[in-house]
Amino acid sequence: MGCNTPLVGDFHFNGDRLLKEYPDCARALAKYRINPGNVGKGAKGDDKFAFMIRAAAEYDKPVRIGVNWGSLDQSLATRLMDANNRSANPLAPDAIMREALIVSALESAQKAIDLGLSPDKILLSCKVSHVQDLISVYRDLGRRCDYPLHLGLTEAGMGSKGIVASTAALAVLLQEGIGDTIRISLTPAPGEARTREVVVAQEILQTMGLRSFTPLVTACPGCGRTTSTFFQELADRIQQYLRAQMPIWRLQYPGVEDMKVAVMGCVVNGPGESKLADIGISLPGTGEVPVAPVYMDGQKDVTLKGEHIAEEFQTIVEHYVQTRYGEGGVKRREVANRTIPIQAVPAGK
Ligand code: SF4
Repeated sequence: MGCNTPLVGDFHFNGDRLLKEYPDCARALAKYRINPGNVGKGAKGDDKFAFMIRAAAEYDKPVRIGVNWGSLDQSLATRLMDANNRSANPLAPDAIMREALIVSALESAQKAIDLGLSPDKILLSCKVSHVQDLISVYRDLGRRCDYPLHLGLTEAGMGSKGIVASTAALAVLLQEGIGDTIRISLTPAPGEARTREVVVAQEILQTMGLRSFTPLVTACPGCGRTTSTFFQELADRIQQYLRAQMPIWRLQYPGVEDMKVAVMGCVVNGPGESKLADIGISLPGTGEVPVAPVYMDGQKDVTLKGEHIAEEFQTIVEHYVQTRYGEGGVKRREVANRTIPIQAVPAGK
């Protein structure tokens, strides 16, 4: 249908039927995900698993063996629990459950290899819904295998709780070099876009300095020195503007995703933070002269004032991007006598 985005077939219960009855679909998918806890029990489950693995081998597709706390293979859990009960030094039940997740992933991967799938086509995930369990499981999994690992806190929850829990868990693992792909699972508020998951995933990677996706705005929290919501609105406006431009900017302006923009509320930290950014604006705080100096590449460039500071700053940002990241782009400070089509107070006034 002309969709160029890689599609993952996420199989539970009857993925074998889809692959059997719709071979075009089997070919079109970029990756298969198989949940070993949801393929079925006994010989029937083994047959389904084998069919999906052989299809992946035939169509040369990578497979994620995706184990989940909520759908753990119960026969495996029982087997490990029984062995633990017979042990002279039994472990706590939650430790056995974590071990069962890992064993399920590793044993399924070995089965896939035995069925003919190349080891370099296998990824693993073991998702749980609590932060400390996730960190513990993935640390252990990372020690026990060389497969690429897909990270994600499943059922993380809504709003800030889901974001904070996912970030807390993934940041620890990513910082330790554990994890190759990530998923953020958020429950959207009614009517809220699911794209928030992607934005959060990008922001985790970018704020950790692992990979850049879109220029990020540094903004102060505001305090008693800010008398209106103007600087909050400007920070939000500029962040949304930058994100909206990225589909085009990514092609036209290589490297722009690393650009740092600062929107600050007063003179206390405003100039310093703005100088550290590629481009920044320091808005006037309470009792300050109502002007807003703009800094580019560490130097004060122009000072804005009046009713249209937001529009003018956005225009300046756009010009900065064209000049610095466009074809033959150079550092802004190296461009002499540029013209910015706004009413601006020259620096120093
Ligand atoms: S930069 Fe100014 S307005 Fe922003 S938090 Fe600091 S003191 Fe408050």
